Amino acid sequence: MLSINSLYKIGCGPSSSHTMGPKNAARIFAERNPNADLFRVALYGSLAATGRGHLTDKAIISAISPREVEITWHPGQVIPLHPNGMEFSAVEKNIVTDTWQVYSIGGGEIRDKDSFNKKEEDIYPHSKLHDILEQVRHGRISLWEYVKQNEPEGTWEHLNNVWAAMQTTIYKGISTEGILPGGLGVERKASSFFTKNDFIFAFALACAEENASGGQVVTAPTCGSCGVLPAVLLFLQRNNGFKDEDIVKALATAGLIGNLVRTNASISGAEVGCQGEIGTATSMAAAAAAQLLGGSPDKIEYAAEIGMEHQLGLTCDPVAGLVQIPCIERNALAATRALDSAVFALASEGSHRISFDLVVRTMYHTGLDLGRGYRETAEEGLAKETGMTRQQ
Ligand code: SF4
Repeated sequence: MLSINSLYKIGCGPSSSHTMGPKNAARIFAERNPNADLFRVALYGSLAATGRGHLTDKAIISAISPREVEITWHPGQVIPLHPNGMEFSAVEKNIVTDTWQVYSIGGGEIRDKDSFNKKEEDIYPHSKLHDILEQVRHGRISLWEYVKQNEPEGTWEHLNNVWAAMQTTIYKGISTEGILPGGLGVERKASSFFTKNDFIFAFALACAEENASGGQVVTAPTCGSCGVLPAVLLFLQRNNGFKDEDIVKALATAGLIGNLVRTNASISGAEVGCQGEIGTATSMAAAAAAQLLGGSPDKIEYAAEIGMEHQLGLTCDPVAGLVQIPCIERNALAATRALDSAVFALASEGSHRISFDLVVRTMYHTGLDLGRGYRETAEEGLAKETGMTRQQ
């Protein structure tokens, strides 16, 4: 498994693949062409199909601005290597001086033809929770200590930054009101929930609404599901008085859970539906909560398993291709589900037939069986029934 550093990314929403990746590519290309006065960006495949709804154009423009940008959309065309393709051209005094074909491959990562097959190095000796639990029992250590033993230097600093960024997003979200961009007329609700002391809902809504408006979030594990884990962590910190260092250890364990899902299944709604995004976020937050509330590694495993098991089959059908309906409310409901999963696991005697590793495998195969229209294409489900399928 890879480092959890690449699971938790701090960047602008509403989509790691459609916003963070393209923005990153635009920034790199603009920096390598300091004298260009115009940039042309052609978007292909899925980036063009749902790019407007995901604010892809705004993300690119914000990275290149104040220099001029022209964007063209080619939803019916896919360039080689990946469905999320982009071609950048730099123009200086009407002459094209540089071009770059680059792909946003998910989770904010980008690749071009030279780096496409480059693999990050596995740094963990295990890739199943069953084996990790044996290891921690044998070594009499906790799951966060297992993470610390295997992660490179700098990971704890990153986790501290992640926690700070999560809180910033929540506080910004609960202090902002108004209508979200995109044309659906969805009103921000975090602030009113906060005023009514519905804190866990308010915190999750705050993150999801910031994400929907292109604000800064932390992928946990994705942009669309970014509200679940921070909401549970801040709720527990405020209620139980946990120190920041306890929260960071919980982030480490949650990261391990997310890492196991991305290694053995997928955290991409385009690949396995919303169970891979919200389902994984629920598992991560359930594990974090179980640890904070004093659960053993086995109880943490059970909490993570419950979090995923009862989200199996969850489809991805965002109305108009915007990460708003059902995504924003779904974050809030998943946060309480995660907390309930932890409480349930801790209250039980611990025995259970379905393991976390098995439920992850089940989620993956269920996801592959979902029709394409239920995997982030905004063509079926709520999108279809409301008559608002994808936006270009
Ligand atoms: S419905 Fe789709 S876009 Fe919305 S949070 Fe779930 S996976 Fe992400």
